Amino acid sequence: MTPLLRLTGIRKVYPSITANDGVDLEVLPGQIHAVLGENGAGKSTLMKIIYGVTAPDEGRIEWQGDPIQIKNPAHARALGVGMVFQHFSLFETLTVVENIALAVPGSLSLLSQKIRDAAQQFGLDIQPDARVQSLTVGQRQRVEILRCILQRPKLLIMDEPTSVLPPAGIAQLFVTLRALAAEGIGILFISHKLDEIRELCDVATILRAGRVTGRVSPREETRQSLARMMIGRDLPPIQITPPTVSGDAFLEVANLSFRPDDPFAATLKGVTLSVRAGEIVGIAGISGNGQDVFTRLLSGETTLLPSDANSVRLNGEGIGHLGPGVRRRLGLNFVPEERLGRGAVPAHSLSKNSLLTTFERGLTQLGLIKRRDLRNVAHRTIEDFDVRCGGTEAEARSLSGGNLQKFIVGREIAQAPKVLIISQPTWGLDVGATAAIRQRLVALRNQGTAVLIISEEIDELFEIADRLHVMFRGLLSPSVDRATTDLDHIGLAMAGDFGHLQTVHVREEISAS
Ligand code: ATP
Repeated sequence: MTPLLRLTGIRKVYPSITANDGVDLEVLPGQIHAVLGENGAGKSTLMKIIYGVTAPDEGRIEWQGDPIQIKNPAHARALGVGMVFQHFSLFETLTVVENIALAVPGSLSLLSQKIRDAAQQFGLDIQPDARVQSLTVGQRQRVEILRCILQRPKLLIMDEPTSVLPPAGIAQLFVTLRALAAEGIGILFISHKLDEIRELCDVATILRAGRVTGRVSPREETRQSLARMMIGRDLPPIQITPPTVSGDAFLEVANLSFRPDDPFAATLKGVTLSVRAGEIVGIAGISGNGQDVFTRLLSGETTLLPSDANSVRLNGEGIGHLGPGVRRRLGLNFVPEERLGRGAVPAHSLSKNSLLTTFERGLTQLGLIKRRDLRNVAHRTIEDFDVRCGGTEAEARSLSGGNLQKFIVGREIAQAPKVLIISQPTWGLDVGATAAIRQRLVALRNQGTAVLIISEEIDELFEIADRLHVMFRGLLSPSVDRATTDLDHIGLAMAGDFGHLQTVHVREEISAS
């Protein structure tokens, strides 16, 4: 069978790193081909070469048997290559259907119907008229997936498509991908989730530091053997000791209701929560159920009227009316789910990005920046969190997705805040980095920080959270002790059925302590 795509000796050099170094890869029609590798291994670079975003410095590309130079993404699409990116390429001010119309021909009404049909078929839950601006990261990803599928490509590249899909959505996506493969479409699938790769993919090519280190049939491998090939060692298990919760709640939210301006965003209804020093509280739930509105109210990006200040309290003080800068000064740090734009300024160096949230910790004097100290702070984050990059002056946007995530999370953990609110902490991280960040969050909680994690990864919450809530359509369930609940009950709650949860009464515990 003639391969759909054959790459031979692909090399791409950036000023500080060789991202691809003699990569060979072949995708057959109907094959689901995984590309695996640790953060910064060169997977996205290789996909950008195939999609015509970046030109290789050396190497040969053949498309359906003929040598070709893929000039740009439009050329790639004309050949029949579709791609779902890790960083989204949607226009924020346009609606879902208007965005898709830029790539798929047809009237808006016809297209809206096609979107509704495909969304229903694949369980992607998207309204064609919703403005992209108002969508969460998870929803935006669903739009990207839909846009690709509607273009009926011959080769579909999916760069971590499942990272923010709920389990049922992943199962449905896999059904879709298998159906597309059965029609002869080749699929290149990048994921850090080894079990998904074992379940879905026919072949896996493994990259380490830009070079191919293995080509295996993932169904014949174990999670451990795949991890070893990727990161070159065995994974240490996460060490978790029971929490030692102290005193009153550090962060409290009391009966918070909030209707955002955006008609498509969930309205919060009477949300009550407390996170005490020395514990990790997790919020499970499918994105789009109010998590974004809620985290903005906690971080101070959205403020309440002074009369409602007590709805959000930090160590007993009402802070609901205060902006993010003041909250940070009081010891509340926040990591948003969007790495680029909200967590970091893409065109700024890592040093400058450190300054954004650390400047009040002795990095300025008489209004001037202490540049050497700043570089030292950025350097320590890079070293401590194993951020693979071109140094403290590398632009945030030049980092691989996972490495930027490590930098942003590391920047906040390193400040040892009183309260850390963190959204999707390990999104896009490889298995080694995921374990390392989870271990650091546990260490932070052991030092007495109150940690609130909002995550779509139920496994993550079951691994490190002490108590769990579930958010559904703007409602927050009461909290449950992780040790006394199970995946089934949380799964039911994620679909709106809170009745099976064995709740813990934290308020009574607080008053007793
Ligand atoms: P992740 O799993 O974190 O997404 P990846 O395997 O997809 O990682 P790439 O994004 O391909 O990794 O990055 C490979 C290397 O190339 C990284 O070290 C990255 O910093 C570097 N790199 C990528 N794009 C650029 C660029 N435009 N300028 C400089 N360096 C770059």
